[in-house]
Amino acid sequence: MPRDAASAEALLKDIFGFDAFRPGQGEIVEAVAQGENVLAIMPTGGGKSLCFQLPALMRGGITVVISPLIALMRDQVRGLREAGVAAGALTSGNTEEENDAVWDMMQRGELKLLYLAPERLANGGTQRMLQTAGVSLIAVDEAHCVSQWGHDFRPDYLRIGELRNALGVPLAAFTATADLETQQEIVSRLFGGAQPSTFLRGFDRPNIHLAFQPKDGPRAQILSFAAARRGRAGIVYCGTRAKTEGLAKALRDEGHSACHYHGGMEADDRRSVEERFATEDGLIVCATVAFGMGVDKPDIRWVAHADLPKSIEAYYQEIGRAGRDGAPAETMTLYGPEDIRLRRSQIDEGLAPPERRAADHGRLNALLGLAEALGCRRKALLAYFGEEAGDTCGNCDLCDRPPELFDATEAVRKGLSAALRTGESFGAGHLIDILLGKDTDKVKQRGHDSLPTFGIGKDLSRGQWQAVFRQMMGHDLMRPDAERHGALVMTDRARPILRGEETIQLRKDILAKASERRPAVK
Ligand code: ADP
Ligand code: ZN
Repeated sequence: MPRDAASAEALLKDIFGFDAFRPGQGEIVEAVAQGENVLAIMPTGGGKSLCFQLPALMRGGITVVISPLIALMRDQVRGLREAGVAAGALTSGNTEEENDAVWDMMQRGELKLLYLAPERLANGGTQRMLQTAGVSLIAVDEAHCVSQWGHDFRPDYLRIGELRNALGVPLAAFTATADLETQQEIVSRLFGGAQPSTFLRGFDRPNIHLAFQPKDGPRAQILSFAAARRGRAGIVYCGTRAKTEGLAKALRDEGHSACHYHGGMEADDRRSVEERFATEDGLIVCATVAFGMGVDKPDIRWVAHADLPKSIEAYYQEIGRAGRDGAPAETMTLYGPEDIRLRRSQIDEGLAPPERRAADHGRLNALLGLAEALGCRRKALLAYFGEEAGDTCGNCDLCDRPPELFDATEAVRKGLSAALRTGESFGAGHLIDILLGKDTDKVKQRGHDSLPTFGIGKDLSRGQWQAVFRQMMGHDLMRPDAERHGALVMTDRARPILRGEETIQLRKDILAKASERRPAVK
């Protein structure tokens, strides 16, 4: 059945049953079908597979698809065969007969798509067979697996460049990982350094409402968020296993249907939670990031983070599990100074080389910048992924209620000076005591009541100072030092402000809110 001449739109409808392309799909399909080398970055669930499956049908010859996930390959092969497309897979999960049948189809020239597990490339026989099989395109799914820095590194992915050279055909690489470093690694290892046509599309999920809140009695914040969404399916992502259990219990005590999920549970128990979540209405799962891979529920109505996620990429993936059906969905992410302290110390105490650690601090800064954003959150989020957006989205907390800003230069300088005058050896609590002129035992013992900074911050309340310090950490003006119990240390970024060369704006609404909701306790 010759399809080379068929238009992309006709195939989209006839074979895949879709009426229209998703954002970005059309242009990527066209570039791949025309034989360009392509790097496409699309979010998970954005519809990457179509971007190589459809061109495979438009081009003559065989498209080899390399993917690290055997289960996914099987699903795709099954789906394609049901749609009448000649597809097959060569994986270690196959029986000998299955593999032989695929080779036979290929030799008869009947196969259109051949899915290949990367470890197959280590076999010289496979490479030789492919050279005589009439391959016209290589598609690489999860292309970030070629990155040695990444968590999903697959050494066999390094052989793909070799295969491309041997076959002399175009290559299309797909990934959901958007950071620049990974992109560069993909370009150098898969494309031999020659810049492919690069597409970054479809990161906007306009139906998902975005919101962040500083932690201020986090358990109560989660309970009240859930209470306002009673009966609707949601996920609460937690930083620790213990917290998943504690929060699930607290939610049940409030009459919700809720359970916990984490990597320390027996496989059977985890599977039963996944099944309940898929089939029951309105279940809440309190989970660590271990919950996600197997979650394919289209109507998750909300996702909350009880702790700051690991990175913008992780944040995006986790909130992205909500509202896959396109109907409105809501998210809320909590963050606080303890999250910042924890993440910084995880980076500093890790085994990564110094330049890697610097990059990780930079990534954390990007996430904190999103948390402390002054304007539309969606615009900030998409900008991180390199996608442009309008100034306001109308569907985030900052568009709903634009934050009131104030010139915080003076407050920040006072805060920095309190830290510097005490040898950068104390956390925010003690520094705030000094600024407020509180003669606590600790203040008196250290003689901090005789510092020039003692009592110079009485114009702000304790809650307001807490918000200033949190935002200073969020803007990376101060970093908690992991080796000294989170003592706040000034960063280079803060110097121009301290020297009076730069001014800084901070958000005021949150200041008021934090102090309103929890009266200062000493
Ligand atoms: P990923 O980018 O994560 O690989 P998939 O290719 O698995 O995503 O696609 C995610 C889902 O979106 C699939 O269920 C797929 O059938 C669906 N999909 C892909 N393209 C379209 C489209 N143009 N219209 C409607 N649904 C689509
Ligand atoms: Zn917005």
